Amino acid sequence: MTDNNLLPISEDDSQIAKAIEQAHLPSLIAALVHVTGDASLVKGDIKPVYDFFGDGQGGLTDEQRARTKALALEAIKAYRDRGHTLPPAPDKATVRALMNFVSGADIPEGYIPFLVEEIALEGGDPKEPRFAPSISDTQRKNFHVLIVGAGMSGMLAAIRLKQAGISFSVVEKNADVGGTWLENTYPGCRVDNPNHMYSYSFEPFHDWPQHFSTQPVLISYFRRVAEKYGLKKFVRFETEMVEARFDEVRSLWRAKLRTKDGREESVEANAVVTAVGQLNRPKLPDIKGIEKFKGVAFHSARWNHDAELKGKRIAVIGTGASAFQFVPEIAPEAKELLVFQRTPPWLGATPNYHEDVAEGKKWLLKHVPFYAKWYRFWLFWMLTDGLYPFVQADPGWNGPSTAISATNQGLRDILVQYTTAQIANDDALAKAAIPDYPVGGKRSVRDNGVWLAALQRPNVKVVTQPIREITEDAVVTADGAVRKVDVLIYGTGFYASNFLEPMTFKGRGGVDLHEQWAGDARAYLGMTIPNFPNLFVMYGPNTNIVVNGSIIFFSECETRYILGAIELLLKTGSSEIEVKKDVHDAFNEKVDAQNARMAWGVPQVTSWYKNQKGRVSQNWPFPLIDYWKATLAPDPGDFILRKKKETVVAAE
Ligand code: NAP
Repeated sequence: MTDNNLLPISEDDSQIAKAIEQAHLPSLIAALVHVTGDASLVKGDIKPVYDFFGDGQGGLTDEQRARTKALALEAIKAYRDRGHTLPPAPDKATVRALMNFVSGADIPEGYIPFLVEEIALEGGDPKEPRFAPSISDTQRKNFHVLIVGAGMSGMLAAIRLKQAGISFSVVEKNADVGGTWLENTYPGCRVDNPNHMYSYSFEPFHDWPQHFSTQPVLISYFRRVAEKYGLKKFVRFETEMVEARFDEVRSLWRAKLRTKDGREESVEANAVVTAVGQLNRPKLPDIKGIEKFKGVAFHSARWNHDAELKGKRIAVIGTGASAFQFVPEIAPEAKELLVFQRTPPWLGATPNYHEDVAEGKKWLLKHVPFYAKWYRFWLFWMLTDGLYPFVQADPGWNGPSTAISATNQGLRDILVQYTTAQIANDDALAKAAIPDYPVGGKRSVRDNGVWLAALQRPNVKVVTQPIREITEDAVVTADGAVRKVDVLIYGTGFYASNFLEPMTFKGRGGVDLHEQWAGDARAYLGMTIPNFPNLFVMYGPNTNIVVNGSIIFFSECETRYILGAIELLLKTGSSEIEVKKDVHDAFNEKVDAQNARMAWGVPQVTSWYKNQKGRVSQNWPFPLIDYWKATLAPDPGDFILRKKKETVVAAE
């Protein structure tokens, strides 16, 4: 067992001691087991607890913290002085004990391989594709994949196909890689998953300047990764795929591409992978008169950086994750800021949301073997399946409909207290700030107090009256109040459930994908669709998560599965792989049944997770481990594999 890319320690004892002051101690103790070989460190009186709302140090007492730091100093000094050698790796039972220790939970046995892989505990890049050697280079080069989109998912697909030696090309509508992190440049835009988890598992970055980095930092990460893997030369930028038709005779997709200047071109591919995200077609609200407004108006995802906001009367419509981030940024410069709120978000206390990562912590991540891995592990468990029970409905729950179980009610109580404690002398705001839907019904936002502080500024007002219409220069609410504004900013989200629009896909027998879906997109494991052989969707239907996890995790699972499907094609000499309809339908039934039992699926919640038919078409309703297991490799029994039809060459 090794740890990759560690730097040797040249710092003196006092510098090491200073860094240790900023450690996440449960992760550091686990790392020390690797450094010393002494598993008794996690068998004594120090037992971190799952402390989602604590300071993250597992509830350790002051004495335990001091003891841990002293132990760590001695162990790291010894590791430095002996020339950075490590004792034999801990055995499986110890790894299991370390997981329980760091998480403060009793992690079920089945999770161990999943988590070991996620943090690459055994070194290397465990998710790197390893195709059967029997698949020749020629086979790989002759199989061409067209990837649509060069955001986080498309880049990942490109990296993995490149590693597998499969031919591929990418089309991207923007002029650069990065997808959502390129398009969203609104003030305050930042990731709301901690970066030490929100990064590719095989491309950890130990120098994240903040725990939740800003958009410019994220886009540079994705650009760096694109550069490292030489992706840009495979991408045709400012080019959209507008249509793809499946040619059943040749088992190929024929795609029509359109460049920004309107030129069209046809290309062929054995498979198409769409990686177009769920959240990149901005949605303007369906409000009467919206087109009449004569002032400056724009959507958060198309931020108008030329618009003058200083001294202006600004209206923001929406209080979702985007508005939550930009309202506190623009509030100080507005003359007057009206925040039109239909539904408040749940605020999750995150004191370090805007904080820099301490230099000492960065040092530990880069120098102490296995510290970065255990830190990622802790975040991963804490923020993924560890949270799942809080958002699962109890069928026997007979409390108010603002919660779905006793655990969910407990969480609600904590969050209500946290929110109201931030509001002084404003009963209307105190009432407006508390959601009437269960925690987990919508994506909660990470809060360090700046949101409610902004809403309590003298120049800011929250308007909860429904909007009746927009006029040339005002927003009119249902109570008849006319509020004149100079600037209108829409934080109103995206056409999330209109998957793969506006592209056209014609599958077997000329079936149109959007007609088949009829406004209710479904896929098997979010990726494959009956009648559409060799089409793979990334971040497709039912692969979003609300509270538990990062989309990068899902994309990594999807990429492995898609490459597995390509491997299956090449290994079996088949040219088409298509999911069986009964497999697809049975899967969707299970998904629907479970979504109905989750906080976001209950009838009292409306959100972008539900499509026009009221079905939760966005979210994965099971624990992450279930997606991981289901996507390790495609089960050939789930698919129809076809060989290429004999082509009849007409006699001349
Ligand atoms: P959103 O969550 O869909 O929020 C849209 C907001 O607009 C909601 O408050 C909605 O109210 C309101 N709205 C829509 N139509 C309206 C109307 N006609 N009148 C009044 N209000 C209206 O959109 P978003 O904030 O852009 O976020 C979308 C998703 O992007 C998030 O859930 C998250 O997954 C992702 N995101 C992530 C980050 C991050 O990682 N930091 C940042 C931003 C976004 P209702 O709730 O009542 O519908």
